[in-house]
Amino acid sequence: MNIPCAIIQDLLPLYTEDLLSDESKGVVEEHLHQCTLCQTELQALKSATPLPEDRSTVPLQKIQQRIQAGKMKTGLLYAAIAMLFALLLMLWLTAPRYLEYSPSQLRFVEADGKVMAVLGEEVTGYELSQGPGGEYTLTLWNSFWDQRVLHRQAGEVLLNPHGEKVEAVYYSSASGFPDRLIYGQPLTGEEGRITLPRLALNYYLLLAVGLLLVLGAMALVRRRSPGLRRLALVPLAYILSHVLVLGGSSSTYAILRDLSGILMVMIPVYGILWMINQRFFSPKISEGKNN
Ligand SMILES: [Zn+2]
Repeated sequence: MNIPCAIIQDLLPLYTEDLLSDESKGVVEEHLHQCTLCQTELQALKSATPLPEDRSTVPLQKIQQRIQAGKMKTGLLYAAIAMLFALLLMLWLTAPRYLEYSPSQLRFVEADGKVMAVLGEEVTGYELSQGPGGEYTLTLWNSFWDQRVLHRQAGEVLLNPHGEKVEAVYYSSASGFPDRLIYGQPLTGEEGRITLPRLALNYYLLLAVGLLLVLGAMALVRRRSPGLRRLALVPLAYILSHVLVLGGSSSTYAILRDLSGILMVMIPVYGILWMINQRFFSPKISEGKNN
């Protein structure tokens, strides 16, 4: 059978891929035996075939990797948001609700020089601080979590386990109103006594705002440095967490609780800010700088 080389060469790509029927394959092979021109064409085709394969699969793999990385980032973002909401819910449920003084929730029992405060069933937590000269301050609270979930009661508080003198016990309702003498005699010069909220969180907030301004300005000047931008996210995360945990207020009667709450909330908040920064700011700026 005498077939023109042009037809055989049209079939060669299919032949190298082994896509021909047995009959066509036979015809091509028969022609190849007697035609050196088509043999060289076949060699050229064979040596060229791996390249286009590579060229098409490598970008595909990259695209696939990018899609997978994108899916993972979206998953991480959802996880950070879920963690944030869970933390805020937990903080809200366990937030202390300070109690006004009520004789039904607090009475004193004395025995052998010891003074014991017996707390009512509404009380799930308390803070007792001892001042100079046998002066004590007591604050009582409960929380939704303690009452409804743990069914906890604070029970009793022994004021002076080592038999110290108890001259006066004041009740602070953590409201900014004057403390109330609920046991003993008022100490001299103690009229209009008031327990003030702690203000340290105020200073931390101001410090974070200052840091954010400085780092933010530096990051604007040195746009090339993504590290600076990521560093500026730390005070920003602190400020946002403070607002999420405490709202507008920054005075607190439970500074350790509030500070640890802010620091816990900071973790997912920083994660979310980091991902927003990666997604929307980093690529654009680096592309712009490459031009
Ligand atoms: Zn030929």
